[in-house]
Amino acid sequence: MEDKIVRICTLVTFGLLIFVCTSFFYLPSLHTYEESVRQEYLREAAARENITELSGLELLQYNNTVSEIREEEVFFDEQLRIAMPFGHDASEALIVNDPIHKTIELTLPGAEENYMYRYPMLGTPESILDLTYESANDRGTLDITTDKPMEYRRRDGGEYLYLDLITPHEKYDYVIVVDAGHGGTSSGAVREEVLEKDLNLAFSEKAILALKNRFGDRLGVYYTRNGDENPSFEERVALANESEADLFLSIHNNAAKRNDKASGTTVLYKSAAGLDYDAKALAEIFSEELTAVLGSENRGATAGDEIYVIHHSDVPVLLLEIGFMSNHNDLQKLQKEEYQDLAAEGICNAVARAAADLEL
Ligand SMILES: [Zn+2]
Repeated sequence: MEDKIVRICTLVTFGLLIFVCTSFFYLPSLHTYEESVRQEYLREAAARENITELSGLELLQYNNTVSEIREEEVFFDEQLRIAMPFGHDASEALIVNDPIHKTIELTLPGAEENYMYRYPMLGTPESILDLTYESANDRGTLDITTDKPMEYRRRDGGEYLYLDLITPHEKYDYVIVVDAGHGGTSSGAVREEVLEKDLNLAFSEKAILALKNRFGDRLGVYYTRNGDENPSFEERVALANESEADLFLSIHNNAAKRNDKASGTTVLYKSAAGLDYDAKALAEIFSEELTAVLGSENRGATAGDEIYVIHHSDVPVLLLEIGFMSNHNDLQKLQKEEYQDLAAEGICNAVARAAADLEL
């Protein structure tokens, strides 16, 4: 009897062993889909002279052809389908949009070095100029560079993140670009150890916050800088032109060379013929609303066509000189946060009036 039990046990163990061994033999086929895709990439890449790896964008294009060849049933309405690494949900993906640099950065938790091969991305690369991938510390970063400033719409679908790249006006009714003048090595005017670039940034940040608070989700506000950088004039004006902004506001402060009595607010506008908006009326709205809240002298609207960002702007543009740094009294006020808040309020009032009066 005991012998029989031992024999049965041995047989069962032996049987199990054979099963496990054969399973191991066939196991590779369970993960071969990803592996074969990767191998195909590498074959494809090797087939091209001097290319050992495909770029992110080439991979995306290649994935699309592979899925066609395989007649995979892949249907989605959005532009991109991004697979999440195993064990991670689409809601964990972080997206940061950087319109001035025309990049959208995705951070994917759990994505390793070979993520792009293991989890083929699918979609139509329209408006995508470049796509790069890097991984570090158990997360991957996908950088999407677009041909113009774009917004995105995301849909979290569990194992897949669906992403649509849309224009600013597909997302917002109204788009304003706020440009803090100067920055980095360009200080602008310097008086009493105060740098114009710092004042401009402070006024811009207040204005951006106030605009978002006042007008809510229907208004998109972009900035040319939010720190001590100095984007080129071309980049600044391109953000306004390419996002087809409804209004481009460049924020500066004035300084007189000799007359330290000069004081007040000036608004510069584009006086060139053939504009499809009343530029002078727009400038006057801003100078009126700003001086009303600031209590500063209204120095009025002035043609500023020689200024690069005004000259090259294809969209309604104004350059605001909030106050005079060369005037000691003005300079004291300009540095005060309450004064910066008032200017932000004046800008909001002017935007509301411009939208109503000029249908801008
Ligand atoms: Zn300036």
